[in-house]
Amino acid sequence: MKVIVSEGAGFCFGVKRAIQLAFDTAKSGAGPVHTLGPIIHNPQVVERLAGEGVTVIDSVGGAEDGGILIIRSHGVGPSVYREIENRGLRMIDATCPFVKTAQEHARKLSEAGYQVIIVGEESHPEVRGILGYAGADAFVIGREDGIEQFSIKRKVGIIAQTTQSFENLSRVVLAVLPRVSELKVHNTICNATRQRQAEAIGLAERVDLMLVVGGKNSANTQRLKTLCEEKGVRVYHVETSDEIDDSWLEGARTVGVTGGASTPDWIISDVKKRLQEQGDR
Ligand code: SF4
Repeated sequence: MKVIVSEGAGFCFGVKRAIQLAFDTAKSGAGPVHTLGPIIHNPQVVERLAGEGVTVIDSVGGAEDGGILIIRSHGVGPSVYREIENRGLRMIDATCPFVKTAQEHARKLSEAGYQVIIVGEESHPEVRGILGYAGADAFVIGREDGIEQFSIKRKVGIIAQTTQSFENLSRVVLAVLPRVSELKVHNTICNATRQRQAEAIGLAERVDLMLVVGGKNSANTQRLKTLCEEKGVRVYHVETSDEIDDSWLEGARTVGVTGGASTPDWIISDVKKRLQEQGDR
């Protein structure tokens, strides 16, 4: 059995940067270190950081006095920055620069009188953060169907969650266009996402089975699974190599492996090793 790992699988630039900042801060010994939410959607990495003394808190109120708060790559809205300042906490801002750009576009569009539509998952922390800059009339939509339920102004600006697929963004743009007199679109899908998705799709087209590796709560990992499924190949989503069921591999001559932006390289290597061992039996 041949195992092919997609080139772009694993940590993206923004995630690498956030994790490095978290480990460096923990090692500096400058005080209690917290992350506002898990640093990435990967329980194994969160566990390693916990081993260094970094604790995850759900809200600014949960931080220890005199502590350091790390903002993860997903970013946060303006009200969170205000809260941190009011509490007098030290802050390490690991917001990915691509997410910062999306936040900036949302703020500028809103200030220029555009109603902002964010294409993405409403409950995702990145989207909730961007929404904080987008003005009171902004809304989030996951896909084009259902757009008719929203009251849409004549002047609209669209931006995307950085991990959306280009196809989904395009479909929403086409659905909004007939209802407005002016439409400004910022393609805020990040390059790492675009490349990863293109490679995963390309791989899914030439293998018998795809394994998508990553946290079950990782939106970009789930999207990779959906995109591969759309190619008609059998796809399984696993967090670690332990979840691989040998029966999945029966009859598969070529297996493709890809992983989300928050999937550590060591977990992808483990999966590859496990598949190769199975293939050698
Ligand atoms: S997926 Fe893109 S936007 Fe998100 S953290 Fe990674 S590089 Fe940044």
